[in-house]
Amino acid sequence: MTRLHGLAASRGTALGRARVRLPHVQETGEKRIAASAVEQELERLHRATDAARAEMRELRSRLQGALPAEVGEFLDLHAMLLDDPELLAALDELVRGKRYSASHALRVQRDRLAQVFEGMEDAYLKSRIDDLDHVIGRIHSFLHKRATHVKGLAGEILVCENVAPSELAQLQSQGVVGIVSSGGSVLSHSAILARSLHMPLVVGASAVLNKVNDGDVMILDGGSGEIVIEPASSDLRQYRARQRELAREQRELGRLRAKPTRTLDGEEITLLANAESQDDVAQAHALGARGLGLYRTEFLFLQRNHLPDEEEQFRAYRDTVLGMSGRPVTIRTLDLGADKADRTGLVMGNEENPALGLRGVRLSLANPKVADTQLRAILRASGYGPVRILVPMVSSREEIMAVRRRLSRLAALLRNDGHEVAENIPVGAMIEVPAAAIGLECFIDQVDFLSIGTNDLVQYLLAADRNNEAVSELYSPLHPAVLRLLWQVIETARRHQTPVAVCGEIAGDAQMTAMLLALGLTEFSLHPGTLLEVRRAIREVDLTGLRAQAPQLLAARDRRGIERWINGNARD
Ligand code: PEP
Ligand code: MG
Repeated sequence: MTRLHGLAASRGTALGRARVRLPHVQETGEKRIAASAVEQELERLHRATDAARAEMRELRSRLQGALPAEVGEFLDLHAMLLDDPELLAALDELVRGKRYSASHALRVQRDRLAQVFEGMEDAYLKSRIDDLDHVIGRIHSFLHKRATHVKGLAGEILVCENVAPSELAQLQSQGVVGIVSSGGSVLSHSAILARSLHMPLVVGASAVLNKVNDGDVMILDGGSGEIVIEPASSDLRQYRARQRELAREQRELGRLRAKPTRTLDGEEITLLANAESQDDVAQAHALGARGLGLYRTEFLFLQRNHLPDEEEQFRAYRDTVLGMSGRPVTIRTLDLGADKADRTGLVMGNEENPALGLRGVRLSLANPKVADTQLRAILRASGYGPVRILVPMVSSREEIMAVRRRLSRLAALLRNDGHEVAENIPVGAMIEVPAAAIGLECFIDQVDFLSIGTNDLVQYLLAADRNNEAVSELYSPLHPAVLRLLWQVIETARRHQTPVAVCGEIAGDAQMTAMLLALGLTEFSLHPGTLLEVRRAIREVDLTGLRAQAPQLLAARDRRGIERWINGNARD
């Protein structure tokens, strides 16, 4: 039995066999082999290629008809690459002619092909480098692991270097019950999506790839970050006890479903939901969320090779609006870019610094056709129930005004064509770029509401990448500069009578609830899975008392000071 720790990224426990996915292409230095070892090395390589091919065939036949067309497309392409005589002959040649090790030959051939793909004009073909990496990575993993044959993915825990947001849903539909990654961070988009899919996830478990073998039995606790490899009987007992405890907690929380979100001193707090899927919408509705505070539309654009057209987007937005039956739905315009890279070629693949690049509203304004298609779809959905439009990554007045101009023009055109479009649709800005927070007075007259995206605001304010585990200690909302800025934004909004919510992940963290209330927040937008916990935390505090403690909170000079304040106001 071995115990490892990582960062708790998505709650829930899982018990299953490990499926190890080694990093797609491992860095292998140039390694030459003796002439006498060539035949043996070739045999290793061929065995690994055959194993990867067999794995692909099995996956294909198991998934037949069960998954959308795009997934079938990937698999066809992977199979084609594995059967490509040129690829295979070139690998043999590198081992035979240059006497490269099989690993190094894979690396060299991968780089050659990647260069060809990169040189292609067609964005779709360019994006096939990922597939190439996947295929080469599978051969590589069969070369280096005793590839114990583990059938299927159902009931398995994926152990990998990183998991992309775009593959999570696919993994879940394949039956994966949990994921552990050696890299990654708790506030990455993958982690957010995993929480939405209720997929237990532990990230940043740096030793995991060296410690776990394919087929090992593991227990994963996405709530504590603990991983147990080859559990002893006492661990299994504990696992079952934990399952029972979680079920009990859920039952207890369930009693709060129909209860108001009101503090002890009678103040009503608004809980809105962040939703990515129809399941989230159903849950938000059932738990009494006052509406959707953040509907992330970019997930419609991931996991596919073509942009969704107006009709498809319209149907998705309309169904979400209908799903909330009269409660407002805040649809955020496309926030692709940075770690939410698509396969359609919309996001530039070659930005040096994508988090500071063409993402969010910048990407929309740079692609007016794509933006207009989305805005038309949202406007049409507004005929079916209350819709608000939220613009991500705003850093200036001009951006909001540009979106507003497009909206007015498109609404007029749609009405001319006989569509029902609501009057005065509220337009809001995400406050996630420090410039927007500091310069809020400069454009607050142009917005109807605000939503603070602390996930990005923290990374940009503290210059600490939300996805980089090396700076994960620095990336924390518990920094005096973050609290002061939050207070400033909430206070400015209050003075202008502009509604403001927090929709970053801290809104759903019950440990942060008292702190956010003390800073003046009265609207939270959070994942429905965390709604009842936050409701419970709100129902246990006295708002007047908490607000009186705000000066001490804002006077804290470091993280420990803030934590002391939080612990001093924590519920028993
Ligand atoms: C945020 O940045 O806090 C946010 C809600 O947006 P996203 O996590 O989608 O970037
Ligand atoms: Mg953001």
